[in-house]
Amino acid sequence: MSSYLSSKYAALEAYVPGEQPRDKAYIKLNTNESPYPPAPGVMDVLSREAVSDLRLYSDPTCQACRAAIARRYGVDVENVFVSNGSDESLAFLFMGFTENGAAFADITYGFYQVFADLYGVDCRVLPLNEDFTLPYEDFLTAKGTLFIANPNAPTGLTISLSQIENLLAADPDRLVVIDEAYVDFGGESAACLVGKYPNIAVVQTFSKSRSLAGARLGFTIASREIIAGMDKLKYATNPYNVNRLTLLAGQAAMEDETYFDTTRQAVIDAREWTKAALSERGFTLTDSKTNFLFAKSDRIDGGKLYAMLKDRGILVRHFTSARICQYNRITVGTMEDMKALVAKIDEILAWEDKA
Ligand SMILES: *Cc1c(COP(=O)(O)O)cnc(C)c1O
Repeated sequence: MSSYLSSKYAALEAYVPGEQPRDKAYIKLNTNESPYPPAPGVMDVLSREAVSDLRLYSDPTCQACRAAIARRYGVDVENVFVSNGSDESLAFLFMGFTENGAAFADITYGFYQVFADLYGVDCRVLPLNEDFTLPYEDFLTAKGTLFIANPNAPTGLTISLSQIENLLAADPDRLVVIDEAYVDFGGESAACLVGKYPNIAVVQTFSKSRSLAGARLGFTIASREIIAGMDKLKYATNPYNVNRLTLLAGQAAMEDETYFDTTRQAVIDAREWTKAALSERGFTLTDSKTNFLFAKSDRIDGGKLYAMLKDRGILVRHFTSARICQYNRITVGTMEDMKALVAKIDEILAWEDKA
């Protein structure tokens, strides 16, 4: 590492994205992208004219895109902040809304720990229960800003809106951030609580259920005051944080409710089919409400299954931390992808049983 890099970053452990290998064509079930293209309206707005307009800066207020989000969630434009991926929303929340520290689960989105380290936030890491459910009582009394992925990743498990309400009511001085990256696949959004509680921020992304991972667009819904604070940090960091094409794409994606419902339902159906197929084969799976499954089998080691699937052209995500190293996180693709996955798993298990 360069000796010019500030020493305070020397030991920082950054986020490691899921692998994107180029050595051959894989069925990619490792980074929770959508298997479907963006809504047709997205293709239409990305015209030659729109590309030509790239010579101009993007709208720093992101007005039209925020308005589309606000309409969809029944809030005011002033309740919406848009960001370069939801990761950027989370970065600003860690940067500027953690005066009393932060608390999050031991098994959750890996970026929380990275942001806490990057911004020097004092954090409490609360271990999930044995069955991977949230240690709700611990969160009720935890100090500092709570960061909760709901549904959680990589477990796929949810907490209920009434549990979230209790967390909000337990301490009005404490901000609760609900990361809803996967909520559209079967969870219940807490966006409806924003009018009722001043201490909630709901973070969502266009990367999963709206097929725009490569466009980098996310948003936060919260009180006007919280959004104004996030805006301050944005104008102190990167005023044109979302590019013109992404703003157009995001607005079009948000406005096509029919396509959104069709594709998310297709993912849910393929998830339930795959879950049944893997259970029949003796896998243990969590009750995932997301676009991925979290699965392990007593018949094969988690790391070995990951490697054997990769050899056979299917990429899934394997985590090495002790509590979850027997599991793989498998993104739900098309039915065709999932049938290919199950066929390869049958092949691998037959091989294992012989060995
Ligand atoms: C994918 C994901 C995000 C961030 O996605 P962006 O592409 O930055 O919008 C945030 N939180 C969780 C839990 C995720 O899985």
